[in-house]
Amino acid sequence: MVKPFMPQLVYFEPKALDYPLGQELYKKFQAKDIEIRYTTSHNQVRNLPGENDFQRYRIAKSTLVVGLRKTLKFDTSKPSAEYAIPFATGCMGHCHYCYLQTTMGSKPYIRTYVNVEEILESAHQYMEERAPEITRFEASCTSDIVGIDHLTHTLKRAIEYFGNTSLGRLRFVTKFNNVDHLLDAKHNGRTRFRFSMNADYVIKYFEPGTSRLHERIEAAGKVARAGYPLGFIIAPIYLFEGWQEGYKQLFERLSTELADEAKDGVTFELIQHRFTKPAKKVIQKNYPMTKLELDEEKRRYKWGKYGIGKYIYPKEEETEMKETLFEYIHTYFPKGKIEYFT
Ligand code: SF4
Repeated sequence: MVKPFMPQLVYFEPKALDYPLGQELYKKFQAKDIEIRYTTSHNQVRNLPGENDFQRYRIAKSTLVVGLRKTLKFDTSKPSAEYAIPFATGCMGHCHYCYLQTTMGSKPYIRTYVNVEEILESAHQYMEERAPEITRFEASCTSDIVGIDHLTHTLKRAIEYFGNTSLGRLRFVTKFNNVDHLLDAKHNGRTRFRFSMNADYVIKYFEPGTSRLHERIEAAGKVARAGYPLGFIIAPIYLFEGWQEGYKQLFERLSTELADEAKDGVTFELIQHRFTKPAKKVIQKNYPMTKLELDEEKRRYKWGKYGIGKYIYPKEEETEMKETLFEYIHTYFPKGKIEYFT
């Protein structure tokens, strides 16, 4: 069981203290005797403690930087939503395959932004531009937002904000089970609460520092009982010895442990494991003992944006994986909806 995240070291941008959330966090960490330092910008935290890269990386992952989100222009977020809404960057989890390792490069510390109302105002403008179309916002493109929300309640604020809009929808995904404070949020059915699920093997070997499968299932049950639309992201789908049985057990357990009403309209997003050459280097540096299979010879190359292609499973394995998981979903969740496989 992982305890809810509590940073070992906190940095503040001085301007963050002009915001109520900045003040609240400052008092919270001071009361807990956590070391507080200052930084001129959340983009430039230097001199993190640690004697080598390996230590510095681990210390960074337990460091929280409280700052302001300056860029209020949102990235697109296909295929799950129209836009990525940026409440936080970085994550305390240690998933070996996590793409944040490459996208965050030398800044693996966790950042939370206290100018939440300005971020929501920007979301409002995006919704207006697209009206009368619905606009979906994805809150977990650059972090596992639930993992830090027991400290900030930013997500709760956003859930209630979108609950009050007619054209906005919020969605996010998590591997953490500290959801209790979100259960009474007035979501009005406009937030899809997704959990990242995987075969026990993948969680055990590649997802340290996150909630275990039974904890995620239990949290999913609570969220469904609170009336949230529920979803599961099965990612990364990874072929290990006995994967068919491993994934079958996953769907069996999900189906047995979730009440029937939780299964109605549940969505599934399926993402096969992939890696890029730069990611492979970073993974091997940060997690040198990993069992994660990263052999280009066993994969198929798919051209990507900016000339950086990714290695995915060969066509035959991809088809088998897709057919097998689709069959399990149809068997165990006949009222579920598969949104995409990629
Ligand atoms: Fe990355 Fe998600 Fe794991 Fe955090 S929980 S390390 S964001 S994959």
